Amino acid sequence: MKVHNVIIVGSGPAGYTAALYAARAELSPLVFEGFSLGGNPGGQLMTTKEVENYPGFEKGIDGPDLIEQMRNQAKRFGTEFVTEDVIEVDLKKKPFMVKTSTQTAYCKALIISTGAKTRTLDIPGADEYWQKGVSTCAVCDGALPLFRNKDIYVVGGGDSAMEEAIFLTKFASHVFVVHRRDTLRASKILAQQANKHDKITFILDSVVEEIKGEALLKEVIIKNLKDDSLSVHEAGGLFFAIGHDPNVGFLNGQLDLTENKYIKTAPDCTHTNVPGVFAAGDVQDEHYKQAVTAAASGCQAALDAEHYIQSIDV
Ligand code: NAP
Repeated sequence: MKVHNVIIVGSGPAGYTAALYAARAELSPLVFEGFSLGGNPGGQLMTTKEVENYPGFEKGIDGPDLIEQMRNQAKRFGTEFVTEDVIEVDLKKKPFMVKTSTQTAYCKALIISTGAKTRTLDIPGADEYWQKGVSTCAVCDGALPLFRNKDIYVVGGGDSAMEEAIFLTKFASHVFVVHRRDTLRASKILAQQANKHDKITFILDSVVEEIKGEALLKEVIIKNLKDDSLSVHEAGGLFFAIGHDPNVGFLNGQLDLTENKYIKTAPDCTHTNVPGVFAAGDVQDEHYKQAVTAAASGCQAALDAEHYIQSIDV
């Protein structure tokens, strides 16, 4: 039975950076980069048009191009890729077992970097205007010209919605937060900051029913849930901030998760509760969720895995 040094499950900046570091450490990593888990191999950047905040690209870079460069860089140092979803792992025995629908592989150290799916709403126009006014990341997209000096709508009542709304006030003429209840879920401090901001207005007990436009998003249709009335609002953008779902289903409960179902890691490192299993990127990051922070934690996971392998190989 062949036992790999390191298997990485999941791609995107975390997985590919982990692969790059593990490959350069001569650990010959094998990456199961996913096929449908969380969307495409490559993660959320595969559906992000322009990335302006990844350092090193002065003029910005398209998400898929950035991912391709990361993948090629990891490949250059000998990373092996399998474009399949992992459907099962066994973390109770060593070596760890990793299974797809066509193969089973074993490893000494395992890095999980399967990311998180941003939740969106299945409403008319949401797909059509994705990245043409519809987004799920204000920090990534808010500064783009299409959002500047326009009315922007944010859906959600949690901390993310408050943060996105406050951030978007830098660029938008006004920000409207549409929340389905009359009470916010957000922490008091963020809710207060948003509430007292003169460029933010709350539209409560309401949902976005439809998104309309031409080449770009132009209008949102909002339904008041108290009286079922519909209103049409001119809009330059709509940001969903209704939470994320980390891709942890295939773990089948074998790793400790946080209350919000992210993989729990020890402070300041990528160790999970199972020695030899490490987690990097959005699957363990409830707060930052940036390509650059995911890449950084992928680097940490590879270094943690390298140290772990050294410790068991002596
Ligand atoms: P969240 O707390 O789960 O809030 C999601 C919001 O979206 C809720 O207000 C929810 O409404 C709404 N929502 C969910 N599904 C919806 C749907 N189908 N239609 C309309 N609205 C819907 O998610 P989050 O804001 O992303 O935060 C996740 C975690 O990260 C939280 O623990 C949060 O505290 C933390 N976080 C912290 C910070 C910070 O401290 N700076 C920043 C961001 C996130 P209901 O309220 O009606 O359920």
